Amino acid sequence: MSSTAAPTRYGIDRDALATLLDGEPRYRVDQVWQGLYERLARPEEMSNLPRALRERLAAALPEALHPITESVSDRGDTVKFLWSLAGDARIETVLMLYPDRATVCVSSQAGCAMGCGFCATGQAGFTRHLTSGEIVEQVVRAARRARDGGRRVSNVVFMGMGEPLANEAAVWGAVERLHGDLGLSARHLTISTVGIVPGIRRLAERRLPVTLAVSLHAANDELRDELVPINRRYDLDTLLAACADFLAVNGRRLSFEWALIDGVNDRPSDAVELAALCRRLKPAAHVNLIPLNPTPGWPTTGTPPARVAEFRDRLVSLGANATVRRNRGTDIDAACGQLAAATPVDVSSPRRARTDTG
Ligand code: SF4
Repeated sequence: MSSTAAPTRYGIDRDALATLLDGEPRYRVDQVWQGLYERLARPEEMSNLPRALRERLAAALPEALHPITESVSDRGDTVKFLWSLAGDARIETVLMLYPDRATVCVSSQAGCAMGCGFCATGQAGFTRHLTSGEIVEQVVRAARRARDGGRRVSNVVFMGMGEPLANEAAVWGAVERLHGDLGLSARHLTISTVGIVPGIRRLAERRLPVTLAVSLHAANDELRDELVPINRRYDLDTLLAACADFLAVNGRRLSFEWALIDGVNDRPSDAVELAALCRRLKPAAHVNLIPLNPTPGWPTTGTPPARVAEFRDRLVSLGANATVRRNRGTDIDAACGQLAAATPVDVSSPRRARTDTG
């Protein structure tokens, strides 16, 4: 499943592992696989293997992610990992601990080519796609961190750096591994997109009913063309039709993500247009409202809390389901749209800027 020449620890598949273990008793493949996915163990920690084999595996299957920093929010419930990867790429992963669940937000690309101007990742540009192994390893490394605090990862959201449906094969390879080998429920795996319509349509045909989060941010084409450039290729009518077809497949769930930008998309008319779009879907889409986080490249600020609540109430009064997503980890730049915010960016063109709110 990994596209790199040498397999990484979570990039290797079972067949390749069996080849690597050629000459060993056949049950070794199961032992190693269970060690990697059920016990989240490093080869060095697999005490049921002979020492020489542990050392051979550790050398043959290197980790893909090398830690640069790990930041913990003041309240200790959000952890942001900054990793370096092969090819001088850098990505971030965020672990969010809630009372009822532990969620990992993974990156699917180093950087992003979608150019949403309010997004810190978009401002930094595109470096490369991640492999399935690099995505899965983000979850495993975060899951180990959660386990240290007695918690078990239950949800994964593909809302970190990158547009997941622009790296579809690797993302789907990771989804299958997370579901089949780490044992996560498909409904607890959420793939976000800014609206790559062919990818949404293929997602509807996949056998696993993952949840889809569409980063909408604007409910008319004129504004969305500006905020989310992919809208010039797949306009709102085309996107809504794909969303309706996605929902028509049994068991599929969908939400709209809306980063509230002060004076840009938080007006009463925006709420009216958004509610109308929500009602076009059956069941109606749920709206997650996210106050835009500050990023270095865009001068506009997020909507103040009182007006966020007002916008939500207006949506609800118009028949839409809407909740305000609590920003997590703003103090460590781990909130939506802040991944890579610490990376130096070109701020000379302030309108070019934007967030993966996904
Ligand atoms: S909002 Fe998402 S799709 Fe847009 S530039 Fe940022 S990471 Fe890419």
